[in-house]
Amino acid sequence: MSSAKTILITGVSSGFGRALAQEALAAGHRVIGTLRSREAQQAFEALDAQRAVGRLLDVTDVRRIEEVVKEIESSVGQIDVLVNNAGYGHEGILEESPLEEMRRQFEVNVFGAVAMIKAVLPGMRQRRRGHIINITSMGGFITLPGISYYCGSKFALEGISETLGKELAPFNIPVTAVAPGSFRTDWAGRSMVRSARRIPDYDSLFEPIRQARKEKSGRQLGDPVKAARAMLALIESENPPAHLLLGSDALNLVRQKLAALGKEIEQWEKLTRSTDG
Ligand code: NAP
Repeated sequence: MSSAKTILITGVSSGFGRALAQEALAAGHRVIGTLRSREAQQAFEALDAQRAVGRLLDVTDVRRIEEVVKEIESSVGQIDVLVNNAGYGHEGILEESPLEEMRRQFEVNVFGAVAMIKAVLPGMRQRRRGHIINITSMGGFITLPGISYYCGSKFALEGISETLGKELAPFNIPVTAVAPGSFRTDWAGRSMVRSARRIPDYDSLFEPIRQARKEKSGRQLGDPVKAARAMLALIESENPPAHLLLGSDALNLVRQKLAALGKEIEQWEKLTRSTDG
């Protein structure tokens, strides 16, 4: 391997974060991973006595984020790559889901990621070097009933990520939004927050979706280890993209969405143009 990097990954206890950490360690990189319990930290550090460094962090604790990043920079070294991976899925029909659950979804998936970015940026900008990777989702492009808060959070992170890439281009800091399709992680299992049902009007639309997601959990198309390898290729590339889809399901569904959107824009073009002047 040409140059070993120091990669800070949020949420390395399972799923993509864990797989990326393991692949990155195997490739010779140093990984600082964030976790939410001592046991998880110990299990992570046991992966490699020298190069797996665990730090306790909940990404909603924004004040601690700054402290942790400063401490990492002084005791471990400069951060070359930030991977904003920590996140979870909220599932529930909008009318049935408390606003508090939306706030929590955005606190973790959006505010947490932005707070991490703000903490690493001074160092990266000063060095004119770095790479920020935000794990979004195909749900940052496509939608389906029952995940409005989740899609909202991932659309938000897509938009923030793309904008940030333009702001950081002069400093040689690429920003990539990685949008996976469905992968075999804990996302739809232990990590998912499901709102309780209470409005029977939505039963016929939503119950089959909820049931199908439960049944599919653990048997999704995507292999997180292969996703990790793709992300490593991204980290090692000279000219990383602003957006990267992972998985053929994401590819097909996002293509369909963009085509349908293009068609709708065309159908309504006359009305759209009518407001000029
Ligand atoms: P996962 O196995 O459930 O892993 C999620 C990780 O995020 C865990 O390490 C979890 O830590 C951590 N985390 C959750 N909330 C956190 C918080 N408040 N502070 C710090 N860490 C927190 O699921 P995953 O699929 O790998 O999820 C990783 C990312 O991929 C998420 O952003 C998810 O939305 C996205 N994604 C997943 C899929 C998929 O199909 N799997 C598809 C598209 C996007 P704990 O162990 O402490 O809970």
